[in-house]
Amino acid sequence: MSRVELGFGRCVHCLRHSALITRDHVFPKSWYPSNARKDTWKWQIPACRRCNARYGKIEEEMLTKLGLCVDPTKPGLAELIERARRSIDPRAGKSERDASLRWARRQKLLQDMRWGRDVPNQGIYPGLGERWERPPEEQGAVLIPRAHFRRLSEKITRGIHYLVERHYIPPPFVIDQVAVDDSDASPIAELLQEYGQEFAHEPGITVRRAVTRDDSTSSALCIEIWETFKMYAFVTNRVPDGWTCFSFSPYTTEGFYNGRIPEKEFRSLVPSQLSRAHRLVNQLKAPQS
Ligand SMILES: [Zn+2]
Repeated sequence: MSRVELGFGRCVHCLRHSALITRDHVFPKSWYPSNARKDTWKWQIPACRRCNARYGKIEEEMLTKLGLCVDPTKPGLAELIERARRSIDPRAGKSERDASLRWARRQKLLQDMRWGRDVPNQGIYPGLGERWERPPEEQGAVLIPRAHFRRLSEKITRGIHYLVERHYIPPPFVIDQVAVDDSDASPIAELLQEYGQEFAHEPGITVRRAVTRDDSTSSALCIEIWETFKMYAFVTNRVPDGWTCFSFSPYTTEGFYNGRIPEKEFRSLVPSQLSRAHRLVNQLKAPQS
């Protein structure tokens, strides 16, 4: 989160005008491994203080949790684990208040952890599942709200759009996000490979984005973080009949939709959304050289 104020302007996230506009990092600053390129300031967008603070909170919680799930043998990622550990270690506190914040974060994290046989066998985010071939009783997992992935992909989608097009994503455009594994995503991934343009700050984040011919707002994005997990986002200018603004995927982290959407219904949303996304991506224009 940044405190630098730009004065009057319009927030990329909530689209409101505000006299207290701050600079917001499209990709959270604390999520960059230290071997990332230093020109991360280029990826800043105007955001109101409220949105900046709200995203700051989500990103902090996600970093604590995701930092504990990454593979430390990948370049730069060991230090993310260290950062996540420190964020819940009261001994690292710079003041009494800071120490108690870290303690509270630790208690919250413990509530969201599952061990051994209690690890859910569904709702595992693609790329973040067990990668160490441990027997089930030695595995651990942490629950992350589905909404956090959606919010993060929405933020990055709006941010990249602003950086490239210098404008906003207003209604009736909506941003959908899907979590699919590589085999299910292959039609989209192939088309993004063909038509998409790449924006990267490796090894933190790589985004492939393609826009449609009809307007410069409808678009598809693949957002890859730490070479570990991907978020697919789609910007479209209508909400199809009977759909909510985003689909729940079968990989939804368990416990955040229980009882609200019947299993059968949300499972069927994913393939239909993928086919819609496929149609959308078919209209994409080639990148400008
Ligand atoms: Zn805002």
